[in-house]
Amino acid sequence: MAELEKLNMYINAERVEPASGEYFETFNPYTGKPWALVARGGEADANRAVEAAKAALENPEWADITATQRGHLLRRLGDLLAANAERLGKLEVQDNGKLFAEMGMQCQYLPQWYYYFGGLADKIEGAVLPIDKPDTFTYTRHEPLGVCAMITPWNSPLLLLTWKLAPALAAGNTVVVKPSEFTSASTLEFANLVEEAGFPKGVFNVVTGFGKEVGEPLVVHPDVAKVAFTGGALSGAHVYKQAAAGLKKVSLELGGKSPNIVFGDCNVENAVKGAISGIFAATGQTCIAGSRLLVQESIHDEFVDKLVAFAKSAQMGDPMSIDTQVGPVTTMPQYEKILGYMDVAREDGAECLLGGGKAERPECGDGWFVEPTIFAGVNNKMRIAQEEVFGPVLSVIPFKDDDEAVAIANDVIYGLASGVWTSDIRRAIEIPKRIKAGTVWVNTYRAVSYVAPFGGYKQSGLGRESGQQAIFEYLQTKTVWISTATETPDPFVMR
Ligand code: NAD
Repeated sequence: MAELEKLNMYINAERVEPASGEYFETFNPYTGKPWALVARGGEADANRAVEAAKAALENPEWADITATQRGHLLRRLGDLLAANAERLGKLEVQDNGKLFAEMGMQCQYLPQWYYYFGGLADKIEGAVLPIDKPDTFTYTRHEPLGVCAMITPWNSPLLLLTWKLAPALAAGNTVVVKPSEFTSASTLEFANLVEEAGFPKGVFNVVTGFGKEVGEPLVVHPDVAKVAFTGGALSGAHVYKQAAAGLKKVSLELGGKSPNIVFGDCNVENAVKGAISGIFAATGQTCIAGSRLLVQESIHDEFVDKLVAFAKSAQMGDPMSIDTQVGPVTTMPQYEKILGYMDVAREDGAECLLGGGKAERPECGDGWFVEPTIFAGVNNKMRIAQEEVFGPVLSVIPFKDDDEAVAIANDVIYGLASGVWTSDIRRAIEIPKRIKAGTVWVNTYRAVSYVAPFGGYKQSGLGRESGQQAIFEYLQTKTVWISTATETPDPFVMR
């Protein structure tokens, strides 16, 4: 068998072999076969990357350039991404098995974050304060935090990196990224574009490997000022604790169990599509999956019949094909986890209306496919309604009225996203106010933008990505006091 290509880390603008000398396989979820070897980084590699990022903070080529010049670099990176979007999209598909229709589109959209935050770089203004002291000039400046560690998951590697990286670089920080061990290839390839854009060496570094082995040393490294993490709630809580020991700044984008609420007055055809896009798009492997479908009793049976008919028609198969609508699951452990949850739902008494197991269609080959699955008769207390599955498994929960819909919607530990389907203007305005989630979509689902803040309520996370406020996740405020008095007053009293 031909040797697989080795993908090395990217530290201080060099391709670096892991100190361990070890590599592990990365798989194509559609074929179920390994296609490359990824460097198995450890503490020594994390230290080396942080050292490079720390040195870059002091390098005048980065430290002394103007915010406008940083903006230029970001815009150049955006242009390079635009020119390479198709290639990067294909690489993502090869590594995470999501549809090219989705990953290609995501890669085409990525440049917008670099343009937006590139534009914002020189619009972050401090203030001259109307200070209440005589003979005093007081102003604020917003300064970078320093070295930022970014830890990303496997479902949308470049998009979720970009949400962190664009504001962090615009703010003047330096960065060490650790992508998911399941999908490291696109981040390593992206490093070439960062270099080509002209960012000085050490500003952007990539280490690869497992969370415990290379992620954790990054999180606890004393020279890392901030940890930006996207991933599961358990790992997130662990990272939070580790970072707390060093009193680091932390932002967390974690899981969800989002309610998609269908009211009896909705446009049924549109709401069926909204329910489908909430759970079967991206094979349900999104943090914002509308995995709990709350349907008002007055239309429940009619709605569920239409939903099942629509979902039944979904084409599975090669994620590169434009006809495919549901692709494979990205990782083998995730594949097993999803199948396990289908058993849990049945054991807890949910009624399986569609799917409910492995997909053994000929077009699925040896890939890690599960059938799009719909469970009805779900009670919100069941595990299938409370725990994140991260797969194409929908729980349908009936409700009577607005109060019950809101109560069920909020009765989970998560609060990432939610959907509301209604033709009633009162509901369109009042229900979003009552839902405890960082995003509420009304008569749409799964829309994101560089302009719109995104993040979680409750255990779905800390901090916000995208939108103007995201840059303040990577800045700290300094207050400067200058006395213009000719004589220093009594030194024994506070001024
Ligand atoms: P995961 O938590 O298993 O891994 C995420 C990343 O954390 C990986 O790079 C992993 O190696 C690293 N990691 C794990 N343990 C670590 C440790 N102890 N120290 C440092 N790093 C560690 O998550 P996953 O399975 O890759 O991704 C799926 C999860 O991500 C889901 O729960 C999903 O909801 C969540 N997610 C959230 C968002 C969001 O924006 N809120 C977006 C996408 C995915």
